[in-house]
Amino acid sequence: MKSRSLVAVLVLCLLLLAGVDHAQEKVDLSQSQMPSVISIPPEALPSGHFDPEAATNAYLAQIPASARARSDAYFEGGYWLILWDFFMSAVIYLALLALGWSAKMRNFAVRSTRFAFLQDLLYWLQFMILTFLLGFPLGIYEGYFREHKYGLATQTFGPWLGDQLKALLVGIILGGLLFAVLFWIVRKLPRTWHIWGAVVTVGFTIFSVMIAPVFIFPLFNKVTRLNDPKITAPILSMARANDIAAHDVFQIDASKQSTRMSANVSGFGKTMRITLNDNLLRRGSPEEIQAVMGHEMGHYVLNHIYKDMLFLSVVTVLFFALLRWCLDWSLARWGGAWGVHGITDVAVLPLVFLIASVFGFLFTPIGNTQTRTTEHEADMYGINASRQPDGFAQAAIHLGEYRKMNPGPIEEFIFFDHPSGRRRIFDAMQWKAENLGLFQNQTTR
Ligand SMILES: [Zn+2]
Repeated sequence: MKSRSLVAVLVLCLLLLAGVDHAQEKVDLSQSQMPSVISIPPEALPSGHFDPEAATNAYLAQIPASARARSDAYFEGGYWLILWDFFMSAVIYLALLALGWSAKMRNFAVRSTRFAFLQDLLYWLQFMILTFLLGFPLGIYEGYFREHKYGLATQTFGPWLGDQLKALLVGIILGGLLFAVLFWIVRKLPRTWHIWGAVVTVGFTIFSVMIAPVFIFPLFNKVTRLNDPKITAPILSMARANDIAAHDVFQIDASKQSTRMSANVSGFGKTMRITLNDNLLRRGSPEEIQAVMGHEMGHYVLNHIYKDMLFLSVVTVLFFALLRWCLDWSLARWGGAWGVHGITDVAVLPLVFLIASVFGFLFTPIGNTQTRTTEHEADMYGINASRQPDGFAQAAIHLGEYRKMNPGPIEEFIFFDHPSGRRRIFDAMQWKAENLGLFQNQTTR
């Protein structure tokens, strides 16, 4: 690809992007928030004629049309971003190969030091900085302007950029470590590198997940032990009831970056923990917080992190087998023109990333479906453990600020990594229909 046609492609991408953005409904932020306090609608109160479908619809009817339009526009815009992210990275990696930049970065590294290990790291450093800069226009739109446009971001530009640079630094250090080890393996074991490469990558992923809550999250946010007994007492009681040996609940100051409510289970082995974010603690009702906490306990008790790792291991092995085949095939055709001398040459890296982005793009529905399935399991566990179906419905509506409430089935299959809001409210109301005896004294709030 000549550099002029590359610039033309980049400009075209940006124009299309601007077009897509412009086509989205212009929404007034002040008039389109999800309701903060969500009352239990009469249809969801216990009665002899309780109908989960009617109760679900009554909950959904509490969402103003403008709030739904905003949530739909935000989430559907995200579908296009999956495509643009893929196009943009494919163009960048192809350009690094076809314009000979990758070969130039390798030559510079080889000229600078005679130690192969340091050459690898020097190439990696150049690669990370260059791809960061080339991807920056899309990154800034996606991560900064778009988030502000939908009222989801709380950061000004300086701190936002600071976070991006910190993430880049983490990528340079952790990624550089993996990169150097993988290239050492490729050179030592040229015939079986894809097997050992997959093994090392899986081990490295587990290591990263394990250190993340202790060493990586604190770089971006303050993580503290939650010590408000009004919140922790019911949570720790729920933990004891479910045989979870927890003494602490963690909170994170996510409001530093975003208005999103969230909670998660992170870590591996001894570092595993449940963390609630401060948006949830500030805006959620006690019932809502308990329902969300039940969901997170579900992830913990059902060993979702370990199962995810197992799933990821299988995918990684498949990917490395595919990678080996694709690398051999493309290097035989274009290796000479790109100035890449073979798989032991670090200049091959953009090709590896190109293959990974094609794989990742095609893998989107499978990955989402795997995650959505475990999320549904955690939902059901959480409703059973917390016995807060109405709290869970409230949480589903609040999470609807950044996730479309009522998608079609194919849309949900492809794009949703969590069940949709409608599905979650229906699950809760179906559970409530079978447990109405627990709610005899309930009145609308
Ligand atoms: Zn979850």
